[in-house]
Amino acid sequence: MWYKNCLNKFVCINCAIIRRKHKDTHWSVIAKKKTAKDKALLHFDELYKSIYGSEWPSIRLALLSQQKYCAVVNNFSDSEETISALKKLGAVDIREVFKAELKYQENEEILIKDSRKKLSARKEKLSDSFSTNQLPGPLYDVSSKDTVSQGFQDSETDSSGKRLHENANAASLRSQLSQSELEYDRIVKPDLSGAVSASALHEFVPATKLKGMEDWVLESEHYSGYQESMDFPIVKKKEDTLFYPKYWNIFSYIRGDVSRYPHPSRGKAGVYNYYLLDAASILPVLALDITNGDRVLDMCAGPGGKSFLILQTLYPERLVSNDVQGSRVGRIKGVMDDYFFKLKNWSNNMSVSHRDGRVIDEENTFNKILVDVPCTTDRHAVLENDNNIFSPARVKERIRLPQLQTELLCNAMKIVRPGGTVVYSTCSLSPVQNDGVVHMALKRIWEETKIEMEVRDMKNALKATRNVFKFSTSQGLRYGHLVLPFLPNNFGPSYFCKLVRKK
Ligand code: SAM
Repeated sequence: MWYKNCLNKFVCINCAIIRRKHKDTHWSVIAKKKTAKDKALLHFDELYKSIYGSEWPSIRLALLSQQKYCAVVNNFSDSEETISALKKLGAVDIREVFKAELKYQENEEILIKDSRKKLSARKEKLSDSFSTNQLPGPLYDVSSKDTVSQGFQDSETDSSGKRLHENANAASLRSQLSQSELEYDRIVKPDLSGAVSASALHEFVPATKLKGMEDWVLESEHYSGYQESMDFPIVKKKEDTLFYPKYWNIFSYIRGDVSRYPHPSRGKAGVYNYYLLDAASILPVLALDITNGDRVLDMCAGPGGKSFLILQTLYPERLVSNDVQGSRVGRIKGVMDDYFFKLKNWSNNMSVSHRDGRVIDEENTFNKILVDVPCTTDRHAVLENDNNIFSPARVKERIRLPQLQTELLCNAMKIVRPGGTVVYSTCSLSPVQNDGVVHMALKRIWEETKIEMEVRDMKNALKATRNVFKFSTSQGLRYGHLVLPFLPNNFGPSYFCKLVRKK
């Protein structure tokens, strides 16, 4: 049967009533579909805007832009040649950047002290010439702010711990670098100070719709503890010095330089010459403070980037790189083969294990444990659809992340030797997965065991790294430190928190 449509054309009625549905692969269907990375971005826009405020647009832009890497020289390959090749490319040794930054800050402090002295001399002069009640208000508060001594130690530091002077290279390097814009002090609202981030975190808890369910399930439902006030003691200690491993040779391009590195190549010994990773990954390993004779567990090690960094310190007596996933264990072994094992040098000191980190029960075996947990991997989540934790199939896994992260951290605190160090880290901006998990784990350990943990505040120690990394000053960040993605040096996100077991 035929009829006239609105365009005055005859159409078959049988055809007209059948609405044509495009195939799933048709562009119009694809355009309407929200991919996992779209969902991730929507989620972050909702959650992170409320946390990072006016900083969020710049963090967002950096997250969506090209990530920056550093090249970690493999000491088991042709390291001298590799170092000179990297220098020729224009990359600089991060150690020198840290030293130059510290020198710069020391000079600034000297200048400030000088100007304070001059001002107080002026003030005295003025008070001589006026009677007290004629004096204007104070010109400058000379009593306030005493500089905190903080430092950076590396191979060139002498045994007494005295820092050596910056070399000419570093000085010129420093002048190339723009001044750090970081306002580093942690600003904490008075109303947050008591309950730590507990109440604040609750505000940040994101809502996520579960597939096939009508109601909104809050991540906080798995974490009702966030709502409770802090009812357990937290011991905090400041750390003033950053120990940079003597044998680390890590190179990066300076701020604003987004050049890429050539693909690593195999040297004479048959192993690759450098490993590329996000420079913010060095911070959790620096926080571990690996020294001679350490026995280290990298609890969630796949694919092996941080294990590689640990081995490059040449210090550990033993390293166990563990992962729960078979494919990730395979990747760790691949890295070890590509970078070490052909030399057989490390086979006695290093092993790979395939276990759930929550049930590793070798107590008193390790004095350093890195807990680099599975997380929302924010940068990956907004850039790649493959293996994206925001895909509908992984909603439950995502919602349970804080629980898994807390269990992993709790187990590390239980098995680490008294006096030993646990570093918890993520590559997420989520306060729930960062300080929130640390809070919950400390609470659980305090309630369930006699273990005493001390939180290390590394703010002073990290001053040397300020020219390279932009740290968060977000309210509610109380335990750890967070590197924010930042276009001129697009590293991170990387959160880490250092915990030392006292008993
Ligand atoms: N540290 C690694 C690096 O620097 O290359 C990255 C670690 S990645 C962020 C997290 C890892 O934790 C994943 O490889 C994942 O398979 C592993 N993982 C997840 N659940 C785990 C568990 N229960 N026990 C041990 N590892 C786990």
